[in-house]
Amino acid sequence: MFNKVLIANRGEIALRVLRACKELGISTVAVHSTADNAAMHVRLADESVCIGPPPSRDSYLNIPQILAACEISGADAVHPGYGFLSENARFAEICEAHNVTFIGPTPEHIRIMGDKIEAKRTAERLGIPVVPGSPGAVTDDGEAMEIAREIGFPVLIKAASGGGGRGMKVAHTPADLSMALSTARSEAGSAFGDDSVYIEKYLATPRHIEIQVFGDGKGNAIHLGERDCSLQRRHQKVWEEARSPALDDEQRERIGAICADAMAKLKYRGAGTIEFLYENGEFYFIEMNTRLQVEHPVTEAITGMDLVHEQLRVAAGQGLSRRQDEIVFSGHAIECRINAEDPRTFVPSPGKITYYHAPGGLGIRVDSGVYQGYSIPPFYDSLIGKLIVHGRTRSECMMRLRRALDEIIVDGVKTTLPLFQDLVDNEEIGRGEYDIHWLEHYLADKS
Ligand code: ADP
Repeated sequence: MFNKVLIANRGEIALRVLRACKELGISTVAVHSTADNAAMHVRLADESVCIGPPPSRDSYLNIPQILAACEISGADAVHPGYGFLSENARFAEICEAHNVTFIGPTPEHIRIMGDKIEAKRTAERLGIPVVPGSPGAVTDDGEAMEIAREIGFPVLIKAASGGGGRGMKVAHTPADLSMALSTARSEAGSAFGDDSVYIEKYLATPRHIEIQVFGDGKGNAIHLGERDCSLQRRHQKVWEEARSPALDDEQRERIGAICADAMAKLKYRGAGTIEFLYENGEFYFIEMNTRLQVEHPVTEAITGMDLVHEQLRVAAGQGLSRRQDEIVFSGHAIECRINAEDPRTFVPSPGKITYYHAPGGLGIRVDSGVYQGYSIPPFYDSLIGKLIVHGRTRSECMMRLRRALDEIIVDGVKTTLPLFQDLVDNEEIGRGEYDIHWLEHYLADKS
C-alpha cells in the first residue's frame, strides 16, 4: 500500500478521500489555494501545501504546482477526486512520468472516454448498446440531413468535446437542422476549443441510469449495480438513488454484466461509471466517466463497500477486494446534493455559515467539508455537502430522508434544502415516477 497520498482536490471529496486514507493507515497531503486556508481537508490532513491563489487554473488545475507539492512532501500517489484534473489524461501521464501513481485509469483510457465520439465507438465495439446516431463527427450539412432522416427526428446535436450538459442542441424537424448544427458548432468551439459535433437520436422521456464499474487493469472487472440520476436541473444531477425505481433484478443483472464484461475486455483499471439513457426497456450508452462520481455514496450504502478503499487497493496493484458473486445489494439509498444556492433561482450563495447542525441516527450519512463559522468561498462550485440516507426499502429510505431534512440546519447562506423538503413529499417522487425532464417541469410549474 502507499505511504503517502496527495489529494489534488478540495471540499467534501477531499475529506472523503482523506478519511479512506486514514482508515488504511496512509499519510495524507492536502493541497489548497489561498481561499481554502481554513478548509476542513487542510485542517485534518497530516500535511498541507498551498499551491496558489483562488482561481482554479492557478491552483487546483495547476499541474506544475501539484507535482512540486508531491516532490516536497514525498507523496507516492495522487488522488484527483472528481472534477478539476480527474479526467485530464496529460496530468495522469505527467504523474506517472514523475513516479507518482495516479489513482485512476491509464491515460489512454481517460483520453478515449474523454472524446465522446471515440468513447461511443469503443463502447459499441465492447458490446455496450449505444444511442443510434452518426458514426463520427459530421462536417457536411447534407450528410447530417441524411443521417438525421435515417434515425428519425427529433435529433440531438452534441459536441464531441462536450461536458457538463453544454453544447447540445435539439432539432425537432428537418427545417431546424442546419440552424441547430451551426449553433452547436459555434457554442462548442467557444466553450471547448473544438467545434466538432455529432448527431444522436433525441430520446423524449428517458431516465438517466448509470452503472458503477471497477477493473483491476489486468482483465478482471465487476459492476456494483446502477444509480438512477434522472432528477436533474440543466443536466446537473440533483438527487440520485439506488436501486433505480424503474429496473427489476433481471434488467440490472443484464446491463451490469454487459458493462463488467466490456471493462474486462478493455482491461480497465479503477473506478468508472457507464452512463445510459433508459427508455422503453432499452439502454442507450451516452458516456463514460473515468473517475469517482459525486454520487458514489449511494452505491456504498447498498453494497457496504468503500469505493475509495477499492480505488487505493487497485492503484497499489492489490486487485479487487471482491468477486462479482460476493457483491450483495441491500436496501435502498438516496443522495441529496446540498448546494449553497437560492432554492428557487439557483443563484450561488457563498458566505459565512453562522450555524450548522448535521442530522444523525441510523442510516444517515453527511459528506461535507463545512462547519459552523466556515466561509464558503465564491470561487468554486456550490456543492457544500451531500446527505445520503439508507433504508431497507425505498419507503423506509424516504421516511428517514424526511426526518433528516427536518433535522439539518445550515444558517447564514441559502441552500437547496427547501427543494428537497418539497421533493420528499411529492407523490410522483414517492412512486418513483420521473424522467430526466421531470424536475425542470416541476420547477417551471412552481414559479
Ligand atoms: P455531458 O458530458 O455534457 O454531461 P451527456 O452526454 O452525459 O453530456 O448528456 C447529459 C445529459 O443530456 C443527459 O443526462 C441527458 O439528460 C441529456 N441527453 C444526452 N443525450 C441525449 C439524447 N440522445 N436524447 C435525450 N437527452 C439526451
